[in-house]
Amino acid sequence: MPPAFPGAPAPLAYPLPPWRSPASGVSTAETLVLVALVLQVIGAVALGAAVGAVMAVAFAFPFAATVAVVALLLALLAVVVLLYFGYTSSYLRIKKGDLEGAKTPTLVLGVVGLFLMLVPGILYLIAFFKLDSALELERWNAALAASVRTTPQATMNAPYWVGMATVTCATCHSASPLGYAFCPRCGGRLG
Ligand SMILES: [Zn+2]
Repeated sequence: MPPAFPGAPAPLAYPLPPWRSPASGVSTAETLVLVALVLQVIGAVALGAAVGAVMAVAFAFPFAATVAVVALLLALLAVVVLLYFGYTSSYLRIKKGDLEGAKTPTLVLGVVGLFLMLVPGILYLIAFFKLDSALELERWNAALAASVRTTPQATMNAPYWVGMATVTCATCHSASPLGYAFCPRCGGRLG
């Protein structure tokens, strides 16, 4: 810990992480959500095809076919609702840069998705953690930028004796600290 000279910049009140851009985490999250949406579309198409297939054999097993069609249609409805929710509340918000707004819907899609559609659910969960760490980085960067702003550049560049009693050097005429034998600027004898 160096001695606190008057005019020296105040030490930062928190440890600084490396200044990393949150952008790569955000674009990873965006890609994960996009892949999840594509898988949801494929799932919806597969469910629709299954409905058609069951209806094609409905004449042979009328009751079983009805039950299967109702179950498949409910699953299809759930997938379409999650698809819409995922596109509007997660994907579009990430694309707009509204990470805070996208975070919670992405988590909900991950948790609900784990039960209804395993792989997209996992992708949404990973995307949620990517968003969370990108937001954390943004907070750190903002705190770092604020601390730099509150330390004036003139203070950081000032010699350590600013604010101490000074004498004028007879050789270079700069303000030198009182009580020293030589001028720190030109090396001339003081006093
Ligand atoms: Zn001098």
